[in-house]
Amino acid sequence: KKIVIALDGYSSCGKSTTAKLVAAELNYAYIDTGAMYRAVTLYFLQNHVSRTNPKEIKEALKNIEVEFHYNPKKKRNEVYLNGLNVEDEIRKMYISNQVSEVSVIAEVRHAMVAEQQRMGRKRGVVMDGRDIGTAVFPDAEVKIFMTADVDMRAKRRQVELLEKNQLVNLDEIKENLQKRDRIDSTRAESPLRRAEDAVLLDTTHMTIDEQVEFVLEHVTA
Ligand code: C5P
Repeated sequence: KKIVIALDGYSSCGKSTTAKLVAAELNYAYIDTGAMYRAVTLYFLQNHVSRTNPKEIKEALKNIEVEFHYNPKKKRNEVYLNGLNVEDEIRKMYISNQVSEVSVIAEVRHAMVAEQQRMGRKRGVVMDGRDIGTAVFPDAEVKIFMTADVDMRAKRRQVELLEKNQLVNLDEIKENLQKRDRIDSTRAESPLRRAEDAVLLDTTHMTIDEQVEFVLEHVTA
């Protein structure tokens, strides 16, 4: 029987890397919900959408289509905004610096949560995000809540960015992670928090393989 695996937690704990590998192992779909909020943020910035005018926000959301397409060359799902591949653009720091402010907007959350529920309705998905186990799929069969020491997270993030040829200083990355964690966990609408029935996973001293193993153990348990 196909299930839903919800991987929630703080920024840069290894959620997406783990989720991707777990999905590959189980032959499940992988959905990076953070990428969806990043794509919406890119649209808001490009189109100077107000963050306080509900009419403008609703209008913008009607014009936003976020999709995932598999890139066989790179062996990964990539994000498309209105038909354009924005995978690289949405990972840049200027998006990371704005995404939490856009993700606070209730209309944005309602639209994204509905879309994520639609994408996962057939189950057989690994979804990573902040509110999957609490708001998107409260009935997910497996729920993991990931944390890690912030300095370790910043270092890992820096390596990731370097691999994309982005040189960002460690303090700037750490500040961004802490700012996002604060905004994400204090917003009114589906804030970042551990679902009561989610298993806690601290990845500070874990390799990716160990994290994947941990999640898979909970799938078969
Ligand atoms: O996962 P990632 O770090 O790419 O997420 C970027 C941002 O998107 C988060 O900091 C958060 O503000 C928002 N987000 C969210 N709910 C989700 C996933 C991401 O609010 N389910």
